[in-house]
Amino acid sequence: MKINILTIFPQMFQPLQESMIGRAREKGILEINVVDIRDHTEDKHNRVDDAPFGGGAGMVMQYQPIITAFRENDMGGRVIYMSPRGKKLTGELAREISCEPEITILCGHYEGVDQRALDEMEAEEISIGDYVVTGGELPAMILIDASARFIDGVLSSRESALDESVYSGLLEYPQYTRPRSIDGREVPEILLGGDHGAVDLWRFREALKITRDNRPDMLEKFVKDRNFSKKEKAVLDELGIRHQ
Ligand code: SAM
Repeated sequence: MKINILTIFPQMFQPLQESMIGRAREKGILEINVVDIRDHTEDKHNRVDDAPFGGGAGMVMQYQPIITAFRENDMGGRVIYMSPRGKKLTGELAREISCEPEITILCGHYEGVDQRALDEMEAEEISIGDYVVTGGELPAMILIDASARFIDGVLSSRESALDESVYSGLLEYPQYTRPRSIDGREVPEILLGGDHGAVDLWRFREALKITRDNRPDMLEKFVKDRNFSKKEKAVLDELGIRHQ
């Protein structure tokens, strides 16, 4: 997948050299092309923003540097503008984006971007949530990371994007690793016994409890959509969770 990024802060994308995304780039699974919008401004003072027509606070990113950068760097595919007024990024949308051969992401700043640039690029607006951050760079990295996990070869063979919290329909159960005991804190006995059925049921119970406490909306959907085994039904009953 080719990912083009239009930004006025290219240095902010250093984290994409590291970890899972860094490895995927080395393997040639991901190609990331970060372009500095400021390198394309025709303003002699290197400005990329100006005051909004109609008045109001703040500045607006101008059409010319964005569109010149977009055209001169051979960018295409699905064009996305990170924006708090966009549709919300979900696992489903991230998975859909992961199927694109090429995407171009525009990162805004200040009060946003001249609407004509968005219209010219036919940009789709995507939000990371109902809050406002300072610029589109962190939202872009979230979108890239969440989508890349679905691309074959990005995660190691032991990992699966679909086993994670959210995608399984329940939030994840607690995890433990060595040592068995530390600072008087013990690993739950059931995880040490080698009884995989009992472990699965324990994890199911813990995942239900966490989901009930943190995301009751998700739990409601989960119990509505599933057929449960006898043992699972017993756990649901024990926790007082209604099911069919
Ligand atoms: N005035 C804009 C508005 O009310 O919609 C907010 C501008 S915000 C301070 C600057 C930039 O940060 C935006 O252009 C966008 O690229 C990015 N941004 C802020 N919050 C975001 C969010 N929740 N999701 C995606 N991008 C966001």
